[in-house]
Amino acid sequence: MVYEYVDPGPTPRASSAATAKVMRSTGRRDTVPEFRVRRALHRRGLRFLVDVAPAGTNRRRRVDVLLRGPRIAVFVDGCFWHSCPLHGPVPKSNREWWRRKLEGVVRRDRDTEAALTAVGWSVVRVWEHEDAEAAADRIEQMARERQRPR
Ligand SMILES: [Zn+2]
Repeated sequence: MVYEYVDPGPTPRASSAATAKVMRSTGRRDTVPEFRVRRALHRRGLRFLVDVAPAGTNRRRRVDVLLRGPRIAVFVDGCFWHSCPLHGPVPKSNREWWRRKLEGVVRRDRDTEAALTAVGWSVVRVWEHEDAEAAADRIEQMARERQRPR
C-alpha cells in the first residue's frame, strides 16, 4: 500500500484560541496521555522503547511505545488530530481544509499500521481520552499472549 500525501493547502489562521492551542500542540513529543500510558506499562513490569521506528519500516513513522519482545507497537493518539469518534469534530471554520488535513492523518495512520503488521508487529491504538490503566491492562494481556511459547 502506498500512502499518498494530499496537501490540504496553506494553513489557515487559527479561528479561535482553542484551535490555536490544538494547532500548536501538533507533533509534540511526550504528551501527557502518552506519559500516563508509559508509566502504567512500566508499573506492570513491561519494558519498551519510546519514539522509534522498527526495522523494515519507514524511519519517519515513529512508534510512541514499542514492546520488542511481544512485538507490540502502541500509538497514543490525540482525539483531535486522529479524529476520535467522540471528540474529533472537524472545526467549523476552514472546514474543508481541516477535513482534508485530518483525513490525511487518518490515512497515514492506516498506512503505518499496515506497514507494521506486514513485518509482524501488532498495533495497539490508545485514544487520548482512554483511561491509561485500562489501556495498559489491555496491552499487558496482549503481551502475555504473544510471549507464550508456541
Ligand atoms: Zn476522544
